[in-house]
Amino acid sequence: MLRFDIITIFPEFFREIFDYGIIRRARAAGLVEIEAHDLRGWTADKHHVVDDRPFGGGDGMVLKPEPIFAAVEQFAGAARREDYGAQTRVILLSPQGRVLTQSLAGDLSKNAKHIVLICGRYEGVDERVAEALVTDEVSIGDYILSGGEPAAIVLLDAVVRLLPGALGSETSAVNESFSEGLLDCPQYTRPPDFHGMRVPDVLLSGNHGEIARWRREAALDKTRRKRPDLLK
Ligand code: SAM
Repeated sequence: MLRFDIITIFPEFFREIFDYGIIRRARAAGLVEIEAHDLRGWTADKHHVVDDRPFGGGDGMVLKPEPIFAAVEQFAGAARREDYGAQTRVILLSPQGRVLTQSLAGDLSKNAKHIVLICGRYEGVDERVAEALVTDEVSIGDYILSGGEPAAIVLLDAVVRLLPGALGSETSAVNESFSEGLLDCPQYTRPPDFHGMRVPDVLLSGNHGEIARWRREAALDKTRRKRPDLLK
């Protein structure tokens, strides 16, 4: 069982998003447990303030360290990353992190039992959070989102579908794009002829050896055309 605790100022954002498809099934099967928590729950003042102005001036607000430290200490059992259990990862969603890949998703699905996701907002999160608490700083791409919540959903989805038993067929993750450094081969379904566009004959032949060879070649060809960087 893998547990996710999501720290956010918008827990409502996550209310129904995990009630669909593979994530819903994985939750129902007891493979994963997911809870989103309101960061304001770890504030001590009566207005539940979670942000403050940046030292040195400048636009916008920064998420304060105290509530985030308190929340992570509760979930990870410590307020320093050296003191977490080996299977605990505290992840800050950040455009400055390493870009999420299938290989990182695979690492998390294999090696983590507890993942704490910290969603930033505004101008970001006080740097001491990254310095002391965070085991992985993860970006979902070189662009700026308004908050870490969509990035948390992307990461969680990518990890959960790799948990053994999460997909209907155990082999389906193996054949997907990136799992072997290639894009997936083209996929077709009925009808075999649609507006004059025909499905390749080999896929209708029933010859499994030929089909496997064709798929491998087609995946290589697609990767060469669309993502030659993957072949380097
Ligand atoms: N001032 C920050 C900077 O330039 O690096 C950007 C802050 S952004 C507006 C607010 C929050 O959105 C970030 O703290 C982070 O949690 C999240 N975020 C924005 N872009 C992201 C990305 N590409 N990947 C992951 N999280 C992102």
